[in-house]
Amino acid sequence: MRPELEAKLFTDFPNLFQGRYKPITESLIPFGCECGDGWFGIIYNLSKKISELDPDAEATQVKEKYGGLRFYFTSQNDNYEKIFELIQDAEDESYKTCEDCGTKENASPNEHGWIKTLCPECREQNCQEREKRFEEMMSMGIKEWVEKQIKYNLSS
Ligand SMILES: [Zn+2]
Repeated sequence: MRPELEAKLFTDFPNLFQGRYKPITESLIPFGCECGDGWFGIIYNLSKKISELDPDAEATQVKEKYGGLRFYFTSQNDNYEKIFELIQDAEDESYKTCEDCGTKENASPNEHGWIKTLCPECREQNCQEREKRFEEMMSMGIKEWVEKQIKYNLSS
């Protein structure tokens, strides 16, 4: 997710995202939300509801897995069940929301070696980008390609 969007979550829900300053041995929130921008609205609404219900709840990891949103949290209070329900609703919504652009038009999880919830337009773009990366990899040789990816990941 774009840093500006994460910053908005961190600013609006400082308690819920207090893990952002913790070492990664205690929280995975310093990595931010490990999913596409399209789910920002879902995560924002969920964060708002959890914060209202339990101001002590703390998010420990937010990410995409198997095409759906995963939101992990911890709390000292006794309302886990209610929070789990909110998270379940958000997860259900994520399977119908394009992870890249956020549209609910025809977005669905699809399996092409991996699962990601996307609308047809973003899926087409994803496929083209993957094909481009594959061609690039084949033309430059795997070793050079891996080195380039590592450099890119370190710089971004
Ligand atoms: Zn899309």
